[in-house]
Amino acid sequence: MPFTALGLEPRITKAVLEAGYTEPTPIQAKAIPPVLQGRDVIGIAQTGTGKTAAFVLPILHRLAAHGAPMGRRGMRALIVAPTRELVVQIEENVRKYARHLRIRVATVYGGVGEGPQKTALRAGTEIVIATPGRLIDLMGQGYVDFSLLEVAVLDEADRMLDMGFIPAVRRIVGALPKKRQTLMFSASLSKEIEALTGEMLTKPEVVQVGRRANPAESVTQFVIEVPKNDKLALLQHLLLDEKMDSVLVFSRTKHGADKIARRLSSTGVATATLHSNRSQNQRLAALKAFKSGEVRVLVATDIAARGIDVEGISHVVNFDFPPQPEDYVHRIGRTGRAAAIGDAISFVMPDDHSNLRALERFINRGIPRKRLDGFDPKKYEVGPPVSFDDRPRGSFQRRNNAPGRPQAGGRPHASSGRQSAGRPASSGRPQAGGRPQSGGRPQSSPRPHATSSARPQHPGGASRPATAGARSPRRERFGR
Ligand code: AMP
Repeated sequence: MPFTALGLEPRITKAVLEAGYTEPTPIQAKAIPPVLQGRDVIGIAQTGTGKTAAFVLPILHRLAAHGAPMGRRGMRALIVAPTRELVVQIEENVRKYARHLRIRVATVYGGVGEGPQKTALRAGTEIVIATPGRLIDLMGQGYVDFSLLEVAVLDEADRMLDMGFIPAVRRIVGALPKKRQTLMFSASLSKEIEALTGEMLTKPEVVQVGRRANPAESVTQFVIEVPKNDKLALLQHLLLDEKMDSVLVFSRTKHGADKIARRLSSTGVATATLHSNRSQNQRLAALKAFKSGEVRVLVATDIAARGIDVEGISHVVNFDFPPQPEDYVHRIGRTGRAAAIGDAISFVMPDDHSNLRALERFINRGIPRKRLDGFDPKKYEVGPPVSFDDRPRGSFQRRNNAPGRPQAGGRPHASSGRQSAGRPASSGRPQAGGRPQSGGRPQSSPRPHATSSARPQHPGGASRPATAGARSPRRERFGR
C-alpha cells in the first residue's frame, strides 16, 4: 500500500516521502486508519517497527486539519515516554514529519534547565513530548494547561511500568480532559498493561504486529571466558578488529563505564559514555556522536541504553555479564537491528557461570564459547590518564595526527606501539577516508537523511556538526 492511500494531509505525505519512506510499515498500516477515525488505540509493537510515525502522522493530520476552538493556542497533543532519550528521538521524528506544517513542538524532561520548557508551555506549544517526572513538576508549578488537549499518547507503556512511572502516569492522565483520544503503545500486552488500558482508554482498538525476530535467534553470539582483571585488555584486543566499527559496550555500573571509556580513550579509541551520572546534555551529545559515527564505542549502562535507536551497531559487548536474561536479550537486540548482521560478545568470569546457564535455559539454546588464541593481556599496558569528558571534539583527530600515529583519514583506532605490534596483518585496514568497509554493512543510504532544518538546538553543543574527517552519519534505522 502506498503512503498516499492513507489519506493523510498532503503536506504530511510529502514530508514522509521526503524522509525516504515508500510505504507504511505494518504497524502504520494497521494503526493509522483507526487513529485517523478518532478511536482509542492500543498498539503492540516494539521499537524499530515504525511505531512512532504510526501515532505521530495521524496526530499531525488532526492538528493540521483544524485549529483549536476560537483560535486559541495551547497544548493539543501530549506524548509521554519513559526516557529522555526516547523523548528526543520522538521529537526528531515529529519535526521531520511536521516540516511543512506550522506546528510547534516542545520537549519536557529532567536534567536540563526548566526555563525554556516553561516558556514553551506558556506560549501554548501544540505538541508536547515529556517524561513523566518533569511534567508532573511543571504541572505542580502551574505551567501546564491541558484544557485544549485532544490526544494523549503513552509510549512504551511497558517500560514505564517497569521503571515505576505508572503512579505518575495516572496523575497525568487524571489531569487530562475526559473527552480526548488516547493511544497507548507497548512492546507486549501484559495483565498490568491491560488493566491500565481499561482505566485510561475507551473501547480501544488493539493493533498488533508480529514480534520481531527474537534477537537471541538472529544475532551471532559467543562468550569469552576471562578473569576480571583482564577484561579491559580483552576489550582493547577485540577492538583491533576494525570490523568492530560501531560498538555498544554494556557496563553494570556507571563507575565501570567511565573506567572503560577512560582506558579506551587513552589508547586513541573514540569513546563516549551513556549513564545517568552524566548530564542530559552530555548524554545527548554522546548519543549524537555515536549515531553520527564520530565515536566508535559507546559505553552504556542498561537503563541509559533502553529504547535507543541507532542503526548499524556492528557489535554489542557485554563487558559485564547481565544478571537478568531479559537484559541480555534487550542488549543484544541493539545489534543487527536492520539486518541480522553484527555480533554479541559476552565476557564471562567464573562468577557469571550460573547466570550464563540461566540465560541459556531462558533462550533455549547454548551460546558458543570462544577461545582467543594469541590474546596476551600483558600486551595492553595502561596508557597515561586522559580525561575523555573534558576533551574538545576532534581531539582524537589531533592525537592521530601526532607523530607516529597513523594518518589515514582521521579515524581513531587503538594504536599504542604495543597494540600495533599485536595488530593483525593489514587486510581490512582503512584506506583514505579512514573507515574500513565493515562486512556487509550498508555504506550508503537509500533514503535521504532527515533534514536538519527543523532540528532542535540542544544547549551544550549537542547539535554541533561532526568534526571534519568524521565518518558519515549512520542512517536512522528501520527494520525488524
Ligand atoms: P520506530 O519504531 O518508530 O523507532 O522507527 C524505527 C525507524 O524506522 C526510524 O528510524 C524511522 O525513521 C524508520 N521508519 C518509520 N517508518 C518508516 C517507513 N514507513 N519506511 C521506512 N522507514 C521507516
